[in-house]
Amino acid sequence: MTLPAIPLAGVIGNPIAQSRSPRMHRHWLARYGLAGDYVPLEVREANFETVVRTMPKMGFVGANVTIPHKTAALKIADHHSDRAIVIGAANTLIFRADGTIFADNTDGYGFMENLRQGAPGWAPRSGPAMVLGAGGAARAVIVALADAGVPRILLSNRTRPKAEALRAEFGSRIEVVDWVQAGEALADVKLLVNTTSLGMTGQAELKISLDNLRPATVVNDIVYEPLVTPLLQGARDRGCATVDGLGMLLHQGVPGFERWFGRRPAVDDELRRAVLE
Ligand code: NAP
Repeated sequence: MTLPAIPLAGVIGNPIAQSRSPRMHRHWLARYGLAGDYVPLEVREANFETVVRTMPKMGFVGANVTIPHKTAALKIADHHSDRAIVIGAANTLIFRADGTIFADNTDGYGFMENLRQGAPGWAPRSGPAMVLGAGGAARAVIVALADAGVPRILLSNRTRPKAEALRAEFGSRIEVVDWVQAGEALADVKLLVNTTSLGMTGQAELKISLDNLRPATVVNDIVYEPLVTPLLQGARDRGCATVDGLGMLLHQGVPGFERWFGRRPAVDDELRRAVLE
């Protein structure tokens, strides 16, 4: 009797030891009693393509991809989702039975599902959103917000030309706000999202005045270490609903897990506890 192959998946990055993805996927595998495993893979940029092309031969059905490989992942794939093409990077690879590689980007999906779950009262069309930062994560966030129907996106970044480049790429719904004036524009927004790495453990503080922040504004920080960043604490102190960044990480893992292991997994408190252990 031939036993079925055990499906493998993993997360490729450099460094990778800090990744919480293995804990998340292993939790789901155990919870649903599924055969399979999910491993962290530290891979240098020079070896990325060789590693990815070898993985299907080793029993891998797919992989998540993180810094610094997200752009390369898009380039080497044979097929791409529209959202991966628009964002310009991939975080999820599916190795198909015919030997081809499909690339998707689920960061924007994870961001939006996290907001829907964490701030069900927020309606995308209700008014402008402000996004702080113009790096890789901001691209996924902006695409998701525009896709959800947010009418105006105020974008502020320390390096202003990067924000202007995103405006040129993603359209006139984006309005660039000078980094030193970000606080002044807060009075008008229904949603504030920090996509900079500021406020993360070991990084500098996000110095933006919250004096103009209204209690009706939802505040989301995609940084999740610490879980309650100084921005989220400041927003809570002003009576705002807040959403932490861990949920974005958890939700972005759902589409990959479903494709690789055949079951749509739940994002709930049990998963959060398992990932934070
Ligand atoms: P990135 O491409 O390197 O972009 C970093 C951003 O932070 C840029 O906008 C950069 O501004 C800004 N920044 C960095 N240091 C700054 C400083 N001292 N003052 C002002 N701005 C500063 O990084 P990324 O991939 O977008 O990731 C950003 C953060 O999001 C990271 O903390 C990452 O862990 C987090 N993240 C979370 C999730 C999740 O699932 N929750 C997913 C993806 C990323 P400049 O352009 O001026 O350099």
